[in-house]
Amino acid sequence: AIILSLKALGIKKGDEVITVCNSFYATAGAIAACGATPVFVDCDERYQIDIEQVKIKISKKTKVIMPVHWGGASPDMQQLSKIAKKNNVHIVEDACMGIGAKINGKSPGTFGIVNAFSMHPLKSLNVMGDGGMVVTNNTKIFNWLKKFRNHGMINRDKIDFWGVNARLQPLQAVVAIEGLKKIDRLVQRRNYNAKILDKGLKKLYPNVILPSRKKNYLETFALYMGRFKKRDKLKKFLNKKKIDTKIHYPIPLHLQKPGVDLGYRRGNFKSSENQAKELLTLPVHQYLTKSQLNYIIKNINFFYKKEKN
Ligand SMILES: *Cc1c(COP(=O)(O)O)cnc(C)c1O
Repeated sequence: AIILSLKALGIKKGDEVITVCNSFYATAGAIAACGATPVFVDCDERYQIDIEQVKIKISKKTKVIMPVHWGGASPDMQQLSKIAKKNNVHIVEDACMGIGAKINGKSPGTFGIVNAFSMHPLKSLNVMGDGGMVVTNNTKIFNWLKKFRNHGMINRDKIDFWGVNARLQPLQAVVAIEGLKKIDRLVQRRNYNAKILDKGLKKLYPNVILPSRKKNYLETFALYMGRFKKRDKLKKFLNKKKIDTKIHYPIPLHLQKPGVDLGYRRGNFKSSENQAKELLTLPVHQYLTKSQLNYIIKNINFFYKKEKN
């Protein structure tokens, strides 16, 4: 979906796309797949793209700013839109974790000119397999994408331009339509669970540092992340207690092999590099019971009490 969004804008070799270094590989991979260069910036204390750094990184080659709704929270999209407009570049949102979120009443995927969602099995809207979605209000882009994803076909015997097969399969589409009906309830449920975790974990500051929750922003809690002292030891401890946790991600994009090949080094982006050492993702999904959430909180409390003694 990200590749298609960028292709629709004619992004190609020599172009630069500014994005954040703490995202999933697909964000940068899609930029590179179009032949363009991902230009990374750091993230802030909410794990979202650092808007001040975006301003600095805009160059003559910049064609697109690609913010990520990381973890299901959102950067300040209004401010990013202003910066994009002022510099005459496009916004393309990686809204893969943002389906069902709200920013002052507006949905992720409605700020950029053409934007991408993922429906991978791990996402809130999943299609029992791989799938993705592109959204746009631009008729020209819409018509181009409809052809491009279907070999550039006008009809069976004629093509308009060289395209690809990027069609969503019918079964997947049916599952997505059903999933869409439930998405608001699902996001509500994850928010309810996140509130319970927030309340229980806030007391553990500064061993546990949670990101601030912005007023008038509805998060999806695709991931419930926080910074935890002695993270690796805690992770092992929780695992023993049968609480599964994950790290999103231990190595930021700029320090992955292709990032280093672009010239990035440790120390370039302090915020994401420091976060990578302490971040932990806890279970927050819609099937958790209140007692299971309390069990998680109780064990994290127990861990830090034990560590103190
Ligand atoms: C899931 C995700 C993607 C896309 O992953 P696919 O495996 O291609 O569905 C891209 N960006 C972000 C931030 C994601 O979370």
